[in-house]
Amino acid sequence: MRLRAVIFDLDNTLYDYDAAHETAFRTLCGYAETILGLSQADFRAVYDGVMNEQIARTGGEYAAIHNRMIRFQMILERLGKPILYAPEMSDLYWTVFLAACTPVAGVRETLETLRASYRVGVGTNMTADYQFRKLQKLGLLSVIDFMVSSEEVGAEKPERRLFEACAAKAGCTPEECVFVGDSVAHDVRGAENAGMRAVLLSSNPAPEGVTRIASVAELPGLLRAMGGGAG
Ligand SMILES: [Mg+2]
Repeated sequence: MRLRAVIFDLDNTLYDYDAAHETAFRTLCGYAETILGLSQADFRAVYDGVMNEQIARTGGEYAAIHNRMIRFQMILERLGKPILYAPEMSDLYWTVFLAACTPVAGVRETLETLRASYRVGVGTNMTADYQFRKLQKLGLLSVIDFMVSSEEVGAEKPERRLFEACAAKAGCTPEECVFVGDSVAHDVRGAENAGMRAVLLSSNPAPEGVTRIASVAELPGLLRAMGGGAG
């Protein structure tokens, strides 16, 4: 079946999430040291503990597990500190994070090229607000046709409902969609389970049977070879 839509994961696919998070987190460590009197190691430990508690509390199926305001609130509660610091921590984190958000090389040009032949969208795990802000900062909101967040559908990848919502917005069947992302478990297996084709974006070797690219610039040629585009 001919490919008619290309859907991208956002974090660590269209930009380097790990680098942006680490930059924001280090700034937050400075805040925690000054305001809360915590060492960087202690702050990292409580942050990781609360992140796991956020997942355990909800069963991990809700976009709220990524909500930083809730995470900072829970950190302050766990430390016995006033929750009045939570908005300041959230603002600081996101200001630094968004400033550090830059698109991977060539991504805007690739999306523009793909849009001439395909419907192009984003399918992402996270609350809509900051995923929109990231796309806005990356300069990519104007070169995508649609957006699906896990908050919007009430299900996290690899749940098939998120992929089905992507196909519905693309106006195609799942078989006519290809999903591109950096996670084998969330993006590749989730998409395949929903009936889509999948491409792993990674600089590491792919598991057997998984199509891999090292750069989004490889996509237009690869998709033509997979039977996509105007024929
Ligand atoms: Mg990702």
